[in-house]
Amino acid sequence: MSEPTPPPVTSGASAGAGPARRESSAVARQSSTAPATTAPGKRSSWLPGPAQGFGVTFATMFKKVTTEEYPEVPKQTKPRYHGRHVLNRHPDGLEKCVGCELCAWACPADAIYVEGGDNTEDARFSPGERYGAVYQINYLRCIFCGLCIEACPTRSLTMSNDFELADDDRQALIYTKEQLMAPLLPGMEQPPHPMRLGENEQDYYVRAPQPGSAAEPVVGERA
Ligand code: SF4
Ligand code: SF4
Repeated sequence: MSEPTPPPVTSGASAGAGPARRESSAVARQSSTAPATTAPGKRSSWLPGPAQGFGVTFATMFKKVTTEEYPEVPKQTKPRYHGRHVLNRHPDGLEKCVGCELCAWACPADAIYVEGGDNTEDARFSPGERYGAVYQINYLRCIFCGLCIEACPTRSLTMSNDFELADDDRQALIYTKEQLMAPLLPGMEQPPHPMRLGENEQDYYVRAPQPGSAAEPVVGERA
């Protein structure tokens, strides 16, 4: 007479508990996804559903429109908005940049490239010994954080409110010194030329500007 066949053994110590656990988790899922029960006969609104939906539309129609009509109507930024950089000039037209590269070192995005050059008496671009011979800002990298303008010791580098910098040419977004230089205002002279405001750079950087004199701050210079 043969031995009775034992019941099939399932692998794993928890095999027997598997179906029960799946069942309980299914119940838990069901209860968590089940809609919250509301009291019978109680509605959040007396309007029918479609009317409630269109109510949102009608309410929005009477709200103040926030659509920007840019570029037909240019956006007005806040006064201290960080836009395109400007390399400023002294009131006689000489450049404030002395080619020190502090802005390039301060830049966390490595977006600025500066090469300093030596001023000579025949070709003077700034009041000091040196000037920024090559100056570039890569607007593909710049994050407009403003750390470079904080680092500039001569207030040569500031930021304007101009934000229209988009382009489809990567090379065009590397701005050169010529593009960044502030325009010549009345009374300014295109460098190179001798120092007009004094004998040395102290006359440019230390002396307080006199009201009505040519040494007043450059009009339009912004932080
Ligand atoms: S604004 Fe910031 S990221 Fe742009 S050039 Fe200046 S330091 Fe670099
Ligand atoms: S912009 Fe200012 S910090 Fe940068 S190289 Fe010129 S003087 Fe130096």
